[in-house]
Amino acid sequence: MAERWLTPSRDAVKYDTDTAIVIAQGESTLTDCIFCKIVDGRIKADVVYENDRVLAFRDINPVMPQHLLVIPKKHIATVNDLASEDAAVVGEMYLAAASVARELGFAERGYRTVVNCNQDGGQLVFHIHMHLLGGRAMGWPPG
Ligand code: 5GP
Ligand code: ZN
Repeated sequence: MAERWLTPSRDAVKYDTDTAIVIAQGESTLTDCIFCKIVDGRIKADVVYENDRVLAFRDINPVMPQHLLVIPKKHIATVNDLASEDAAVVGEMYLAAASVARELGFAERGYRTVVNCNQDGGQLVFHIHMHLLGGRAMGWPPG
């Protein structure tokens, strides 16, 4: 079943494209999503890397001396929602992370990339993002 939001607005209607039956009403994910707003410039971010498919910017609440977020420009809610067609953009997120770490001078010392998924993973923003953490040694395993 294909689903589509009719209008990207507060009173958006989501309908099944086969039957035209309305599935949901309310704000669409895309108008709601903080990281989609960063992608289209409605919310400002300290961007350190950008290409047509991915964006990297500083986390607003850093937990390490270097804390960047790498996101696909396409809205994908969680790792569970990745489709096979998204494999390339996930690879690009890693390439972007390595490039940013090199550019900011902490690639050789090392860093950690983390992608949280859903409640147990501690995901708070439902647009997938890779945390790029560096600038000091980290313990393992994480708490
Ligand atoms: P999560 O817990 O979902 O893996 O991480 C979400 C991250 O997004 C958090 O580290 C949080 O500080 C960051 N964040 C949330 N809202 C914003 C924002 O508006 N701008 C930026 N730059 N980072 C944000
Ligand atoms: Zn989004």
